[in-house]
Amino acid sequence: MKHEPKQIIMREKLERLASRLEANNFGVTITETAEEAVEFIKHQIPSGASVGVGGSVTLDELGLIDWLRDNPDLKFIDRYRTDDRKKAFHDALLAEVFLMSTNAVTMDGFLYNIDGTGNRLAALIYGPDKVYVIAGANKIVKDLEEAKTRVEQIAAPANCVRLNKDNPCVKMGECMHCNHESTICNQYAVTRRSGEKGRIHIILVNEELGY
Ligand code: SF4
Repeated sequence: MKHEPKQIIMREKLERLASRLEANNFGVTITETAEEAVEFIKHQIPSGASVGVGGSVTLDELGLIDWLRDNPDLKFIDRYRTDDRKKAFHDALLAEVFLMSTNAVTMDGFLYNIDGTGNRLAALIYGPDKVYVIAGANKIVKDLEEAKTRVEQIAAPANCVRLNKDNPCVKMGECMHCNHESTICNQYAVTRRSGEKGRIHIILVNEELGY
């Protein structure tokens, strides 16, 4: 496959980031394309496993939600098609595998995420045996300061639009640090390292994914 100069440069950056993440006890896989990332995930999930997911544009874009839903060998905890979403969130905390994206990955090797309900962060922090985090190249930032800026200027406002939340960022185009009941920014979490080696496995994709 012929790579564009931008991809070649980004690959170098991804390799450096992978070393930092591995030093922080995370498992890491780099893929050139989203398709490779999807294939990797599909081969990692053992037959019969229970699988939960965090709300994620990336997982949807990659077709992973449909794949999980249609896979009779897996016990997919479908948070999108249930009358009891709270139960689905609780069940996902006991899942063998949890899939999610991240709001940002810093070049220091940290994950930075915000959450409204907190179910996604809860599962990242504790519960599922294995957590796979898919991160497109657009999620990579220099440090935590830049991660916060990225979330306030891009990720959170865009997610408010996606979720039809009438929060100030939707009108203003950036975070207004609101205190609305409908805010999606109740929890901020930095994951500095994977406590159990490799429990959190990050797939760095050399393409833009989600926001
Ligand atoms: S705190 Fe409020 S204004 Fe800021 S991004 Fe979150 S929902 Fe939007």
